[in-house]
Amino acid sequence: KFGVLTLGDAMITLNPAEKGPLRFVTHFERKVGGAELNFAIGCARLGMRSKWVSRLGEDEFGRVIYNFARGEGVDMSDVAYVQGYPTSLNFKEIREDGSGKTFYYRQQSPILTLQPEDITDRMFEDIDLVHLSGVFLAIHPKNVEIAKRVMDIAKAKDIPVSFDPNIRLKLWSMEEARPVYSAVFPFVDILLTGLDEIRLISGCDSEASLAEFASVNTIDQLVIKDGANGSKLYTNGVWHTKEAFPVTAVDTVGAGDGFDAGYIYGHLHGLSSADKLSFANAVGALVTTVSGDNEGLPYLEEVWPFIHRQAVIER
Ligand code: ATP
Repeated sequence: KFGVLTLGDAMITLNPAEKGPLRFVTHFERKVGGAELNFAIGCARLGMRSKWVSRLGEDEFGRVIYNFARGEGVDMSDVAYVQGYPTSLNFKEIREDGSGKTFYYRQQSPILTLQPEDITDRMFEDIDLVHLSGVFLAIHPKNVEIAKRVMDIAKAKDIPVSFDPNIRLKLWSMEEARPVYSAVFPFVDILLTGLDEIRLISGCDSEASLAEFASVNTIDQLVIKDGANGSKLYTNGVWHTKEAFPVTAVDTVGAGDGFDAGYIYGHLHGLSSADKLSFANAVGALVTTVSGDNEGLPYLEEVWPFIHRQAVIER
């Protein structure tokens, strides 16, 4: 079994039971969210050993997240409860036209107590890949130091690093984010990014300029996600493209995190470039068919039949 390590904040997400401005909503559905935790759950469901490094508030919501992640088979040995930092919350607003907004209550996130010294060699035992996300970097400027330490240890141990910029303009501005991304990219082997996102970060639009961007930053695999259009990969001087699987998408949130988990599965298991994209597209597509950020993440045995469009006999 391959082992992956990721690190980041998780939150309780409160989804409104009614549409319209949040101030009129009286009922909410409680869920667990957070890009890196979604990725960790995605990896666990695909049968990989999945370690999530984090901090949780020593409160009821912290326990909800802990039990949920542990129940999904995520390795929680480097997750600790901390006092005085309540578990982060995130309320969603859904307007009548389907558009949404997010209201974060994460000013004093428990992960702010994580220090560079907390990242130790021991955490990397039996780890085959390290995955980081821009959300962690956006939470606090000091997290860049922690991420650098993680990447330094990974490099010293010859462990590949994947990174998803996951731009969150509610947490920082593009002007703040750009230099941080530039500091991180040279350490990244696999960059998993959205098409609009990479355009915003790099200022590149054409395949030629994106290829140049990958070369300059020594990114071995530039993987670009484009929602219902599928995805593409630039590696070893060649572009590979795969169209998305046709599905009835009911909730696209979390598709990107699932895609990342699928791609990393394919990478670690030695799939070809085309098959890695197909596998990741399949995981992303399956996530969109279920409402919730991580509920739709598939188990390994669901992915191949979906790719080969085999009917599964349910009874
Ligand atoms: P998020 O950050 O909201 O999770 P993202 O922008 O990182 O998402 P998307 O490009 O929306 O990621 O989706 C990731 C992948 O999931 C796509 O590349 C595609 O393979 C799959 N996917 C997403 N939406 C659809 C859809 N409507 N139909 C089929 N596949 C989809």
